[in-house]
Amino acid sequence: MELIAKKVRLELNNKQKTYIENLFYYTRSIFNYGAMLFNNSKDKKIGEKEIREKFNKRIEKDNHIYEVLSIESVNHTFKSINSAIKNASKKEIKLKKSYFKNSVFLTNNDFSIVRKNNSKYYFLKVRSLKTPIKFKEKLIYLNPLSVVISRLGNKYFASFSFSIKKEVLYLQKRELFTKTDRSLGVDLGIKNNYTLSNNFIVTSPETYNCYIEKIRKLQKKISYDKNELAKSNNNIKRVIKLQNVFYKVDSIKHDFLNKFTSVLIKTFDNICLENLEFRKFQSDKKYVKNFINNSFSLMHIKLKRKASRTNKRIYLANKYYASSKICSNCGRKKEYLELSERIYTCPRCGLVIDRDLNAAINLEKLINKNVGVVDAELKLRLQSKFESILLKNKIKFNCI
Ligand SMILES: [Zn+2]
Repeated sequence: MELIAKKVRLELNNKQKTYIENLFYYTRSIFNYGAMLFNNSKDKKIGEKEIREKFNKRIEKDNHIYEVLSIESVNHTFKSINSAIKNASKKEIKLKKSYFKNSVFLTNNDFSIVRKNNSKYYFLKVRSLKTPIKFKEKLIYLNPLSVVISRLGNKYFASFSFSIKKEVLYLQKRELFTKTDRSLGVDLGIKNNYTLSNNFIVTSPETYNCYIEKIRKLQKKISYDKNELAKSNNNIKRVIKLQNVFYKVDSIKHDFLNKFTSVLIKTFDNICLENLEFRKFQSDKKYVKNFINNSFSLMHIKLKRKASRTNKRIYLANKYYASSKICSNCGRKKEYLELSERIYTCPRCGLVIDRDLNAAINLEKLINKNVGVVDAELKLRLQSKFESILLKNKIKFNCI
């Protein structure tokens, strides 16, 4: 059995929104109660256990909180208090605010997935809520174990967790299973692009840049001062707007990476990436740096997950391996290589090659060292096939 999470968007009417917001309110207030106790304690040594005892004493007289939330949901909130305490390490825990991301955890005793009069559409039925909630997307699996309902900006989501037999999971991914005996090196560029050792440069969607500008502009306008946020409705509106833009950027990013990693896993058996641990980024602007960092590590995670499900292999180069300094033709290592040198010229064999392509080929060669013979030659037929798959998935690319 394998645990799988699937997030879908929900479409709520006003009554349902009020109901869910009520669930958020109670979860948030339990979390904030624990966080306040921790923040106000002198030596910050108060743990989950003590907070729970105090909480139980407090609600002894009036336990209507359990009319709204189940015991499991309350327990889950205490777990998140516990992890917040661990992460805080003697600093203050940030309190949850109604206008930021909110969520509530429900086990399958509290909800069910139902069908209306044998129609093909499924709905989410939550505890005492009379009308079932519509899904905006299709659910692939049924019978979830638990769900986290959350809100970001003004959008609501349900993140289900399923326990699924491996055979079933693999059956759906059968097309990705076929062996190709091909291998690939991927070099990650600073401008959020990927140089592949088969002469392709894949660029991430341009929309990134427009939205990054938008985010910068919005972030400048928002005041995160406590009093100002309490006073100004417009400020809160801007926060929600910003979260919506974040959601949009995130969706574009996930969509692109999902398609791109799928293409790679379908076409190649062995993929070698560089280790990101000691990667230095040129950009000094905080958001852009985090953003690029984030999408690279997300690509790693997605590739690894897909590879493990389809018996393909992902290699990570040793973190001290200087992929861009070594000549991919004769193996001579340059001692110094300026970041501004975009073309690699080898003094020994006279190779002139794009710097990133050189690095990507070196990464691909690492695979050969480990597993023996793989088809490393660049064949025209395969190139055009790869090109057509990229086009089919609407992925932007250039040939070097
Ligand atoms: Zn050389």
